Amino acid sequence: MLQLRSNCELCDRDLAPDSTSARICSYECTFCADCVDTQLHNVCPNCGGGFVARPIRPKTERRHGTGLEHQPASSKRVHSLYSRVQIREFVNGVKDIPAEQR
Ligand SMILES: [Zn+2]
Ligand SMILES: [Zn+2]
Repeated sequence: MLQLRSNCELCDRDLAPDSTSARICSYECTFCADCVDTQLHNVCPNCGGGFVARPIRPKTERRHGTGLEHQPASSKRVHSLYSRVQIREFVNGVKDIPAEQR
């Protein structure tokens, strides 16, 4: 189950569970759309994979035991282990390879 992390690992902006700006890689590294488009160029700086839009978990319990009330979003903030310079170098080495060929 997705953790629904609370912030962008790079710029630290809040990414509420209903945000349409949250992007995740296959490992669930979480960034905002702005960072993915302008800084990361669809390269996750932690794993080299591409991103997709994070699905929105319903607020309402439309099926028994589901929804944000039962499985709330994570409140733990996550920050990248890498510096901006390290990220730029990594991204520049990977961004021209299509995600499905990395
Ligand atoms: Zn960001
Ligand atoms: Zn990743």
